[in-house]
Amino acid sequence: MDIHEYQAKEILKNFGVPVPRGGIAFTPEQAAFRRLELGGGRCVVKAQIHSGGRGAAGGVKLCDTDEDVRDFARHLLGTALVTKQTDAAGKRIDRLWVEEASQIERELYLGFVLDRKSERIMIVASGHGGMEIEDLAEEDPDSLIRMILDPAVGLAEYQARELAFKLGLEGAQVGQMVTVLKACYRAYRDLDAMMVEINPLVVCADGSLVALDAKMSFDTNALFRRGEIAGLRDPGQEDPRESFAADHGLAYVGLDGDIGCIINGAGLAMASMDMIHLAGGAPANFLDIGGGASPERVCQAFRTVLSDPNVSVILVNIFAGINRCDWIARGVIQAYKDIGIGVPVVVRLSGTNVEAGRKLIRDSGLPIIDADTLAAAAEAAVAARPQSIAAE
Ligand code: ADP
Ligand code: MG
Repeated sequence: MDIHEYQAKEILKNFGVPVPRGGIAFTPEQAAFRRLELGGGRCVVKAQIHSGGRGAAGGVKLCDTDEDVRDFARHLLGTALVTKQTDAAGKRIDRLWVEEASQIERELYLGFVLDRKSERIMIVASGHGGMEIEDLAEEDPDSLIRMILDPAVGLAEYQARELAFKLGLEGAQVGQMVTVLKACYRAYRDLDAMMVEINPLVVCADGSLVALDAKMSFDTNALFRRGEIAGLRDPGQEDPRESFAADHGLAYVGLDGDIGCIINGAGLAMASMDMIHLAGGAPANFLDIGGGASPERVCQAFRTVLSDPNVSVILVNIFAGINRCDWIARGVIQAYKDIGIGVPVVVRLSGTNVEAGRKLIRDSGLPIIDADTLAAAAEAAVAARPQSIAAE
């Protein structure tokens, strides 16, 4: 789960990372007031969206006057910002962060990520901050410093100092860098983060270090024990289809095609999507309904898939081990009754109680297309699409 820059800054500040003073604003008037609160001088107005690359996309601006702030705020609020990291629709801006402007001497990159190879937290740093990490890795890979942390020891003082020296920091900055590194590490560990990124971490004209940008991402599987983090979720930044699914405990990822998928098991879901492609179609989503799916859960899965207006046919593919085909069949029938499904539905059942499941579907009298195998189901789904879509 991602959070906003201002939320990440608040968290990191509490762990000891120096951040600029600032305030949040939902209207141009509030934004102008925030500038006054900061002393009425030069400030930076920043679009708060779950994406980096805002500066290059026109979402960050230095403002000197009341009018500058109001104009820029009016220009941003309520629109969507498209960055290199978003899709073509961009992300909606409903709040701004107004902070004091820093006099930048040097921009550094600092990131804490989970290195899956070593199964440890890894620090990635570079003396060339400001650029996105992907661009850095491409354009200046030699500048990247990587440091893997031993979970038993944590971030050792000598490692932090070594990193500061490698980044070319001197004097009091070394101690400040050690503080920043330890704070980020503790925030990462204590809050079940998956990523902490400060880009840029700047050396100011007066020699001090300040985090001008901050990004944090959290392990969704740990949110049950991190209530204060879970409360920072902003559904307005999520794909509405995905938020709806998450609210109902379904693993769902929206895609661009038109064949809605309701499948159990991530592996079978991937295989089904491959088969759909092979049959000449395109999946509208990935959806793993999970094990032990009750009829109610099947119904929610239909609601989720049908919330995507592009869906022209639904493919239900269940290999029941823990699941039971008769429960799934009941769920499909209930979905017809409760939601009123206006698109063709192809069902392929296999495994536990398959005969009972198929009988329920046959006896229901509903126009459900029954398929024996995964390949047959994918072909039937592609064939069942309306002519207008099939022709595209
Ligand atoms: P993004 O990474 O989404 O583009 P940043 O917060 O990194 O957004 O801002 C982009 C650039 O704007 C930074 O690299 C920095 O050069 C400048 N900037 C951001 N905040 C400030 C600030 N408080 N004072 C001066 N410059 C800033
Ligand atoms: Mg940045």
